[in-house]
Amino acid sequence: MLSSNQSNYLHPFTAAHYRTILVAALESGYRFALFGEPVDGRVIYLRHDVDNSIGDALKIAQIERDLGVRSTYLFLLRSQNYNLLCGVGISQIREIAALGHDVGLHHSCEPGEALQNDESLADRIRGDAALLSQQIGLPVRHFSLHNPAENDNFELDVPGLTNTYSAPYFREVKYLSESNFRWREGCPCELFRRQIYEKLQVLVHPMSYCEDLSGDRDALLYFLHQKIQLLSRVNQEQNRTLREYPVSMAEIAEHLKSHT
Ligand SMILES: [Zn+2]
Ligand SMILES: [Zn+2]
Repeated sequence: MLSSNQSNYLHPFTAAHYRTILVAALESGYRFALFGEPVDGRVIYLRHDVDNSIGDALKIAQIERDLGVRSTYLFLLRSQNYNLLCGVGISQIREIAALGHDVGLHHSCEPGEALQNDESLADRIRGDAALLSQQIGLPVRHFSLHNPAENDNFELDVPGLTNTYSAPYFREVKYLSESNFRWREGCPCELFRRQIYEKLQVLVHPMSYCEDLSGDRDALLYFLHQKIQLLSRVNQEQNRTLREYPVSMAEIAEHLKSHT
């Protein structure tokens, strides 16, 4: 078995290798299905939990579209990482759907997201799914919970919605995910070529394959860089003084260095 470093060298977390993984699946006779579609033969339910950035999800969605692959993108409604309800967020999600993909809700049970009074987790998810659907103008039929390993509720039943961790998509199929930039059984491009599993659900976090990132530290730095750039641009565009005397990324970096 290759070490994680060796494997990441041969199977890098890049957009080009993501394409290779999808091509390996297609050439090995797998079909990509959306949750709820009737299936037979070799099938992959490809799912993306969008934890960090809708823009990165769109990049991955375009790669899939080029290859005729459809998948399911699940978005956080209450995240500190991105605001789905800003104009750009909604239009990017609609663009992902227009590429042929399905859209649903990703939910994170963080301490700051306490449920209201007698609200149950199922109520919260049903309400958020309805709100998401109403805001983006598209049906929302599926959901997933963040960090299933740390969440006793991850197989929760919510009437009217499909939990992507429910038995038909989790216990009754092979489940693969890249957590901490590591595929436990090796890169899916090899698993697909060997046709080991007939039916799979594969979870890929879009940001993992957007750049040449090699680990969680890299990913966090990439995310923060993007975020600082974005917030800096948005805030400076909105402010006349800052438009005249802009703050550069170098100044921001200098400030961070001298204030930590
Ligand atoms: Zn590979
Ligand atoms: Zn997540």
